[in-house]
Amino acid sequence: MSISIDSKQIHATLEKLTPRTQAYLSGAPRDALGGATFTTINPATGQPLADVAACDSADVDLAVAAAQSAFDDGRWSRVDPAHRKRVLLRLAELIEANAMELAVLETIDTGKPISDSLTTDLPETINSLAWHAELADKLYDRIAPTSADNVGLIYRQPIGVVGAILPWNFPLMLAAWKIGPALAAGNSLIVKPAEQSPLSTLRLAELVAAAGVPEGVFHVLPGYGETVGRAMGLHPGIGCISFTGSTQTGRALIQAAAGSNLKRIILECGGKSPCVVLRDVSDLDAVAAHATQSYLWNQGENCTAGCRLIVHESVKELLFEKIRRRSREWVVGDPLDPATRIGALIEQGHLEKVLGYIHKGREEGATLRLGGGQVLAGSGGYFVEPTIFDDVDNRMAIARDEIFGPVLAIIPFRDADEALRLANDTAYGLAASLWTDDLRTAHRFSRELQAGTVSVNCYSEGNITTPFGGFKLSGYGGKDNGIEAHDQYTLQKTVWIQL
Ligand code: ADP
Repeated sequence: MSISIDSKQIHATLEKLTPRTQAYLSGAPRDALGGATFTTINPATGQPLADVAACDSADVDLAVAAAQSAFDDGRWSRVDPAHRKRVLLRLAELIEANAMELAVLETIDTGKPISDSLTTDLPETINSLAWHAELADKLYDRIAPTSADNVGLIYRQPIGVVGAILPWNFPLMLAAWKIGPALAAGNSLIVKPAEQSPLSTLRLAELVAAAGVPEGVFHVLPGYGETVGRAMGLHPGIGCISFTGSTQTGRALIQAAAGSNLKRIILECGGKSPCVVLRDVSDLDAVAAHATQSYLWNQGENCTAGCRLIVHESVKELLFEKIRRRSREWVVGDPLDPATRIGALIEQGHLEKVLGYIHKGREEGATLRLGGGQVLAGSGGYFVEPTIFDDVDNRMAIARDEIFGPVLAIIPFRDADEALRLANDTAYGLAASLWTDDLRTAHRFSRELQAGTVSVNCYSEGNITTPFGGFKLSGYGGKDNGIEAHDQYTLQKTVWIQL
């Protein structure tokens, strides 16, 4: 799929935009039962975009009851999987037909560059849904190798009511990662978008209905984590929650599950990914291109961001120069301008957090070699320039904590074992990348790096065909993407038959 990046079309779409602001419950938009709203703002201007329904536990109760009753009568859970495939493929087509509108919504609500929304978020959303749709009628179950007296069937069943709690950095794309396999398996689904970025998910709800997902199967409940999210975590009628967000909220969800119905909790909780550059690497230009993309893409608001550059001291200076040159080419600006590559951070509080870490990096004695400040403050938006610290000690806060901004920490090393130790000396384990020309080193490091995804001689998260999820504090419980994503939303059952 290719969507053209045409400035006129972007602005024409913006003029016509009417953000949906109500919750989406049982096939129709509706206000929160309590009538409350919250304001979502445009991070590029600091101005309000819309007042959106602020749901709470009463709305969760209503949605769960509707979702359970839809599940029980089989209107979606028991139809031919080929039908679910067709409906979800139609959804992918509808998203494609409305891609410009969704991309503009995503950009004004999150501050991410329109060029990224159009060339990454939307195509990935469409591809993810289509890929999981195709699997709906292609996943076979198993028969156990029993004696002739028995038949042992091992098969998967949908769970029932599934919850998806979303973050604000890739709202549509992460919704698709969860909606695709959860609906393909026949579950009912309740989605809670992040309070900072509800608009694209609310529009998506209409497309889900238009595609033919029956009433009662799919719900979107906007609102705060402490109200809607917490109520979902505690609800005895929800069988599984797939969550992407902070480790702190991940812990809260596990506790809520433990204190209620032991619902399955699937967590993807951020990272502090190393990019390890060994001395033998010959193509430093390629390293620089990937390393720059890796720390700056999506303003650094990306859980796999390669924000720790662990580089051999002999190539450090040359690589730093190349990364600095490339970083300066990443234009910080109006997210709706197709030339912009770094948009606004999500909100004032997050801007302060990122600037706070930059301040801390200086205080702790790292050398600031690029950027370090807020820019375009006159816009009212939350922009930070590309920032690089050198001589970072892996014990410093800027090397340990997830900053989620355009900040790179360069950590020099002398020998390969030290590099491996530094790379793994982190509480997180989502992704790691590795640069070497030596095949043996590539394999040894790939095995020993403690991360759910290791990319070699590139920065990558893999793609829809490969499972994605972390080790250590980056999460557990299942994987997004790949065929494995379908395991998250199904229960495995054994049927033992005496012949
Ligand atoms: P961040 O700090 O990056 O915003 P959060 O983990 O707070 O990450 O948010 C990710 C998602 O989790 C959001 O949709 C948010 O509303 C939700 N959330 C926050 N707190 C809770 C909670 N206690 N229970 C369930 N969901 C929550």
